[in-house]
This record gives sequence, C-alpha cells and structure tokens, in this order.
Amino acid sequence: MMHNTIKYCTVCGSKTQQLIPDGDERLRHVCTECDNIHYLNPKIITGCLIEHDNKILLCRRAIEPQAGKWTLPAGFMENNETCSEGAARETQEEANASVSGLELYSLYDIPHISHVYMIYRARLASPEYSPGVESLDVQLFDKDNIPWQELAFSVIRQTLISYFNDKKSGDFSLKTGIITAEMKSLLTIKPPGF
Ligand SMILES: [Zn+2]
Repeated sequence: MMHNTIKYCTVCGSKTQQLIPDGDERLRHVCTECDNIHYLNPKIITGCLIEHDNKILLCRRAIEPQAGKWTLPAGFMENNETCSEGAARETQEEANASVSGLELYSLYDIPHISHVYMIYRARLASPEYSPGVESLDVQLFDKDNIPWQELAFSVIRQTLISYFNDKKSGDFSLKTGIITAEMKSLLTIKPPGF
C-alpha cells in the first residue's frame, strides 16, 4: 500500500496542510503549528540474487503484498546501513541464509510507486537456508523450474530474465531500467524462450 499522506506532524502531532513551501516547487505536508515540512521521497529496496549449484534461491512470501508468490529475498533498506549490508540482512531475515561475494547486478526504477530496486548477485556463505518469519518456503530453482507465473513482482521477473540471458555469455554487467505499472500484466505469462 502506498502512504502518500501525512495527516499529523511527526514532530508535534498537530495537523498538517498541503502547500508549496518558499523556494520549493512541490506540494508538501507542512505542519500548521510548527511549520515542520514532511518530505516523502522514494524508498530503496535491496536484495540478493543467490546462485548455488547452478540454481537461484527464491522465497515464497508469507506476507502481503503478494502473499504466496515467489520473490528474491529483498526488503526496504534501513537507516545507517549500506545497500549491500541491507541486501545481506534481508536475505538473513527472509531465508536464514548468510551470503558473501555481493556484486551489484541490477538497479531498476519503479517511478509509479516511487521505489528503487537494487539487487546484488551473491553466493551462500554456507549451504544452509530455511524460511524466515516473512517466508512460507525457500527453495533453489534451476532455469527450467522457475515459477514464472507465480512471481510476486515485475522487477523480480525482469531481473531473473536478465540474469538467465547473461548466464549464456557470462557477462553480468549492471542492468538498469524502468518498471512500469503495465508490466504487471506480464506476471501471468512465462517469458518467451523459458
Ligand atoms: Zn508540528
């Protein structure tokens, strides 16, 4: 769910109003009492694409949105951590898996929901994994068994397509792109060639 509204000031608890502050160009939620300006900015989601025994680790989501669907271990970056630390932390939380050798692989913008996804290629530090509290299941999938029609998010679908295409050449240079709302309709379709 999107949270695009801040009704009450996070500093003093008074009501906010929407106005364009001096020197700004956008409507902001500004406190009617203390004039605190609440900026709403994009969120970074960071996670890992784990390669093990020629397979990819996917988590089946236990929580909304998209409960029951499969995804890469990933989540919102926290304050005071690096992006790669966040990716490793989310992997630990969702898959009880320790990772090493993180290399940034994809950076996708999702402007219609103000998200940025950063996914790192990584290896299991030890061959152990199990569902964390936010996962129903964690499994390794080879290319032929990826549950394409049960993936949670377009950005994950796009990342996996890029990864398996790159696997042919061995060139895993950084992938970038924009994920649009319309791409959601592709989630029910197996990508051509897979
Ligand atoms: Zn206030």
